[in-house]
Amino acid sequence: MNIPQQDITRLQELLTTSTPLNIVVLSHFNPDGDAIGSSLAWRRLLLSLGHNVECVVPNKYPHFLGWIDDVECIHTFKDSPEECARVIAAAQVLFFLDFNSVTRLEGLTETVESNTTATKVLIDHHLQPTPDYFDLMFSYPDSSSTCYLVYKIIERMKGTDVIDTAMASALYVGMMTDTGNFTFSNLSPDIYRTIAVLVEKGINIPQINVEVYNSHTENRLRLLAYSLGPKLSVFEDGKAASIALTEYDLRRFAHQPGDSEGFVNYPLSIKGVLISAIFQQTHKFIRVSLRSRGDMDVNVFARRYFNGGGHKNAAGGKSYQSMKQTLEYYRQCVHEYFVELNVIEN
Ligand code: 5GP
Ligand code: MN
Repeated sequence: MNIPQQDITRLQELLTTSTPLNIVVLSHFNPDGDAIGSSLAWRRLLLSLGHNVECVVPNKYPHFLGWIDDVECIHTFKDSPEECARVIAAAQVLFFLDFNSVTRLEGLTETVESNTTATKVLIDHHLQPTPDYFDLMFSYPDSSSTCYLVYKIIERMKGTDVIDTAMASALYVGMMTDTGNFTFSNLSPDIYRTIAVLVEKGINIPQINVEVYNSHTENRLRLLAYSLGPKLSVFEDGKAASIALTEYDLRRFAHQPGDSEGFVNYPLSIKGVLISAIFQQTHKFIRVSLRSRGDMDVNVFARRYFNGGGHKNAAGGKSYQSMKQTLEYYRQCVHEYFVELNVIEN
């Protein structure tokens, strides 16, 4: 990741004002550890520069992020739409963290789009950000998380002295969760140097691990068992897998936001599985989550077949068909894609 000095300078100029700016930090629907961690860390930095800062997300963050400092100050559009609309209307600068297209704000999209006067700054690591939408873009798909990118921007702008324990913990959460606890790709040597700095700032890694990975409900574990038992299908000669959860399944296990996060990764632990999907029904559509191994590109797959996108090995989209039709369609798409990539013969 090589951030041009002119972009750092432009950001510095934008944030150097004689009177405080009203700033809103936005992140995506179903905010994950990287979305919440980067938003709260960036908020802390902007507060330290003297600005008025509000964080807004479309819906509630999962319970296992509830321990992060100041997480309760994040506005949730689903719970308080008027409050969110008010702070967004008052914003002079909007930061878009951990997503590449305004549509990823789902129900909040219209509220943001109607605010056309604010300066829009993207800080993100997803592929293919919406062209011509942002006034300033920090788009680095080679960064393993938005939190790592935020760290690099803060380091360049202000040095690491401004990072306190709370900011360091928030940054670590996103770096940890988006890399599968530092096991996925894009792990540069500098990430470990960054972690060393965060440890020097006083973060407690064992405690963060327990909070994020081992703080679930019994229902969540039983939903996992059910997802990997009766609900798992493996096909295409053991090279593809899917998990399908209906609204009834989710209700049965009292599903809470974040409960099924990471389930889609489990089928990839089977040797030979190249692509895995989880389909979760909501009252409006089926949410599709995709993961893959190696060269199998699910960003392309999600864009082509499920009107979505993401990263090469982690992407998502939507289906507006029934669960039965969606699963059948997925099997056909996988077959077509495998033939195209010469993974199988036709
Ligand atoms: P997850 O499966 O964790 O929800 O999402 C994996 C990745 O795919 C994330 O980086 C997310 O940004 C992207 N993604 C998930 N759903 C969608 C979608 O509906 N549209 C787009 N463009 N990206 C998505
Ligand atoms: Mn991310």
